[in-house]
Amino acid sequence: MKTNQPDLIFYGAAGTVTGSKTLLSFDGKKVLIDCGLFQGLKHLREENWQDLPVPAHEIDEIILTHAHLDHSGYLPRLVKQGFNGAIHATDPTVALTQIILEDSGKIQEEEAAEANKRGYSKHKKALPLYTIEDAKKVKPLFVAHKNSEVVFITPHFKFQFHHSGHILGGAIVEIFAGDKTLVFSGDIGQQKPLLLYPPKRMHNADLVVLESTYGDRLHPEENPKDILKDVVNHTHQKGGILFVPTFAVERAQEILYLLTQLKVAGEIPNLNIFLDSPMAVEATKVFFDFPEWHTLSKEAIQLIQDEVYLITSYEQSQELVASTSPKIVLAGSGMVTGGRILHYFERHLDNPKNTVLLAGFQAMGTRGRSLAEHAHEIKFFGEWYRVRAEVKQMNSLSAHSDQNDLLDWLSGFKTRPGKVLLNHGEPNASHQLKLKLRDQLKLDAEAALPRVHYTI
Ligand SMILES: [Zn+2]
Repeated sequence: MKTNQPDLIFYGAAGTVTGSKTLLSFDGKKVLIDCGLFQGLKHLREENWQDLPVPAHEIDEIILTHAHLDHSGYLPRLVKQGFNGAIHATDPTVALTQIILEDSGKIQEEEAAEANKRGYSKHKKALPLYTIEDAKKVKPLFVAHKNSEVVFITPHFKFQFHHSGHILGGAIVEIFAGDKTLVFSGDIGQQKPLLLYPPKRMHNADLVVLESTYGDRLHPEENPKDILKDVVNHTHQKGGILFVPTFAVERAQEILYLLTQLKVAGEIPNLNIFLDSPMAVEATKVFFDFPEWHTLSKEAIQLIQDEVYLITSYEQSQELVASTSPKIVLAGSGMVTGGRILHYFERHLDNPKNTVLLAGFQAMGTRGRSLAEHAHEIKFFGEWYRVRAEVKQMNSLSAHSDQNDLLDWLSGFKTRPGKVLLNHGEPNASHQLKLKLRDQLKLDAEAALPRVHYTI
């Protein structure tokens, strides 16, 4: 039976910030918007082991807003369950998602192996949620699209991707279902992203599904370039090394851009800059491959290529870990949950000459959070390590809109949207944003509930 009204159901990112999956049924088709992994708390992560309530083979197509794991990380599971339709995404999202999924498969395999070795899983053998091989099986299903290209699902059901300002390739999705227009914000960036085009201003919609990650917060008013300059100069005066634990996509490129600009302007000393993270190196190359998707000039790219040592091999990394000469090192992971940064910390975290700059959000329970809260020691590789290096934080490079940005974006609609459903937010963030949207913009706004049908 063909549905003649768009019908929505949220299977994730409703009341939480991970596991984004929204099923849209219209004109006889079932389309899943994002296919994300649940992350963080254990009861959420356990949901990743469940099959979706809708059989995978009944889903016709997937529309992916961007590459982050909380939007793409369930794809290998869905393919394993029998999904074999098209996965629509922008050109850079296709490239980045493959990198991210294979890395995720590798981590899942390593964690399962570690659990079996240490006997965490007492009763049965621990299994990876998916493997690198599973992640590779997603690749043939991708269909890459340009910005604003019109993509038809049926003659009456079509969509377009527009710049979201969140990460490279990230998109707002505008869907035309018969005479209804639906806008999915995806994750939406600040009004003036450092390296990306700002979120596209939309003009009308019967329904807006809006993310609310920072629905209750404002970003600090600070200039990341000034902070970086001060931290580099201060560390240089001490004669130490600056370590920046970094996220592979977007944050690594933002910091490399700022550092190389400061260096060429003579505002920081002539220090060597290293990016030691195979995933971040690959993501940086994707940036270079898609110049139409970001605002970096040719000169700025050339400067990064000339000034930054891209480290991928383990041997090179080990050599760098052993060296004590002043330098700047960016290494994964961004919240110090794993990755090569731990090898540097094993060797250098107890030296007060060195500085650690935390350049992004640090989730509860991560080592990055402990450092941000001035822990005097942190545990990794089965040992406790003293923290004598200085720890600094920089919070202004967020990839998400804050409350003011979200209000501003919504107020740009020429006609008031018929309804706004808030997803991708903790309950308090969605609640506070809902109140603001109702009071200030007189919008019919509510927090999306999981597994409830919304007919538009
Ligand atoms: Zn995201």
